Amino acid sequence: MSSVREIPFFNYQALYQNQKLEILEVLTDVMERGAYILQKDLAEFENNLKDFLDVKHAFGVADGTNAILLSLYAVGLEHGDEVILPSHTYIATAGAVHFAGGTPVVVECGPDHMIDPAAIELAITDKTKVIMPVQINGRTSDMDAVMKVASDHGLIVVEDAAQALGAKYNGQSAGTFGSAGTFSFYPAKVLGCFGDGGGIVTNDDDVAARISLLRDHGRDKDGEVVAWGMNSRLDNMQAAILNLKLKTFPQDIERRRQVARLYGEGLSSLTQLTLPPGPDSDQRRFDIYQNYELEADNRGELKSYLEDRGVRTIIQWAGKAVHQFDGLGFDDVSLPVTENMFRRFLMLPMNTTLTDDDVQYIVEQIHSYYRN
Ligand SMILES: *Cc1c(COP(=O)(O)O)cnc(C)c1O
Repeated sequence: MSSVREIPFFNYQALYQNQKLEILEVLTDVMERGAYILQKDLAEFENNLKDFLDVKHAFGVADGTNAILLSLYAVGLEHGDEVILPSHTYIATAGAVHFAGGTPVVVECGPDHMIDPAAIELAITDKTKVIMPVQINGRTSDMDAVMKVASDHGLIVVEDAAQALGAKYNGQSAGTFGSAGTFSFYPAKVLGCFGDGGGIVTNDDDVAARISLLRDHGRDKDGEVVAWGMNSRLDNMQAAILNLKLKTFPQDIERRRQVARLYGEGLSSLTQLTLPPGPDSDQRRFDIYQNYELEADNRGELKSYLEDRGVRTIIQWAGKAVHQFDGLGFDDVSLPVTENMFRRFLMLPMNTTLTDDDVQYIVEQIHSYYRN
């Protein structure tokens, strides 16, 4: 056995150290200007984000959960409206629907771990108002199919693209398909800040106007209150950091795709694993690999085996899909495909601080586990 390497799941410290001087310069500049709330760094970041995604409007908001909440208010969700989403997502997706006054209706995903368009169709009732595909792990759902179901039934689409900044489907950016799309800049997200942060994008002028008011107490440009709103602003210091990181973000994505390629090459011969689709496996999709989530036989044992050899992996969300948490109103829901996946899911380290040697080491340890 090769000597043990320590490979954290995510290396916050290294990310900072790699860019320390530039980051300190940006922060110092903001503080010397005393520019903290709704200042030029935020405006610049919003502009750059808009250009990056090729979308008409972009807003920085408090976090990814708020981004969903505000988007649902902005598209006119009303009390009792149903919102269809995959159960394979973070509880935040369903929680935001709940706090927006809606009823989250969770459905199955397909073999690629994304929402199953046929399951959306089956879940539609006369109360359904919104379909919320979640672009999980940095991959896009089958957006042709999702948009077709939405238009066939006159439903609104709001994308939870918290995990998919820069991902594309038929050349179009995740987050730009429906009436609004949301992002998270949580520190471990592909574009992460040093705290909480989120974003909303839209091509709809009316939705944009409402979001602009909703995130800042309903105040217009002159400070006049013209609607109900709240405080959900991305602070300027975080925006300045994000603006800096956005400059090198395309290289970050390429690195993640390269890591996914190396995992794919190294692990595809193992029949005990089901790997996520590779970066070159599908002409329609450009995946950005927020996470590398595979399915594994004996995943608990594999996880401890890797841990003993210094490799930190994660079973995401306590190993449960949204409908598997008690007391949230999903007691009668059964989604066998999703439940089966959740028994097998394991996330390998996936980030820009991993070296090729790290990946090689992880691959070797997994092979050695299944050999024994
Ligand atoms: C991270 C995440 C969110 C919430 O974002 P926060 O910034 O943590 O509020 C929502 N949905 C998904 C799929 C996420 O991964």
